[in-house]
Amino acid sequence: MKTTESATLTSASFEDLVREMIVRLGEDPTREGLGRTPARVHKAFEYLTRGYQQDPDALLKGALFTVNYDEMVIVKDVEMFSLCEHHMLPSFGKVHVAYIPNGKVIGLSKIPRLIEIFSRRLQIQERLTTQIAESIQNAIQPLGVGVVVEARHLCMMMRGVEKQHSSAVTSSMLGCFREEQETRTEFLSLIHHKNNGS
Ligand code: ZN
Repeated sequence: MKTTESATLTSASFEDLVREMIVRLGEDPTREGLGRTPARVHKAFEYLTRGYQQDPDALLKGALFTVNYDEMVIVKDVEMFSLCEHHMLPSFGKVHVAYIPNGKVIGLSKIPRLIEIFSRRLQIQERLTTQIAESIQNAIQPLGVGVVVEARHLCMMMRGVEKQHSSAVTSSMLGCFREEQETRTEFLSLIHHKNNGS
């Protein structure tokens, strides 16, 4: 009686729910290839949403340095994998982050970690973009921050219109990146300058 009605779902384990899903899709969860699938799916989804367990403010707080540097800092082409909150299907792409310091910088290795914390959640690309920009803004109050996310969404590519080559680009520009066209242009030209010619 474990997997019959939704009333039982609140007490069902994650693995029970996956097993139920397999049944409703018309498959036999006891056949050999699917036997361990519920456990695997459980593990995979825990990993893919582990950003919920991590605190972006705590990450940045431990990695701030005082400097005199006041040129643009750019971390570009950071690989990103996320799950769309509408279909729970993957999206993937690249994130480019830049800021102009105002006395403080963030340890460079923390930028990919920050992107990881926000992308490993159920997301929409627009929110992901602004969350990255705003948490940098709040952590170091730079003169400005720019974030560009270029991503492809499997929910678009695999279903419906099947626009397999379309990608979505979102950006969040704060401070001087919003106010000064020159700063924005410099950022955009630096991220579009490819090293590998592709
Ligand atoms: Zn979607």
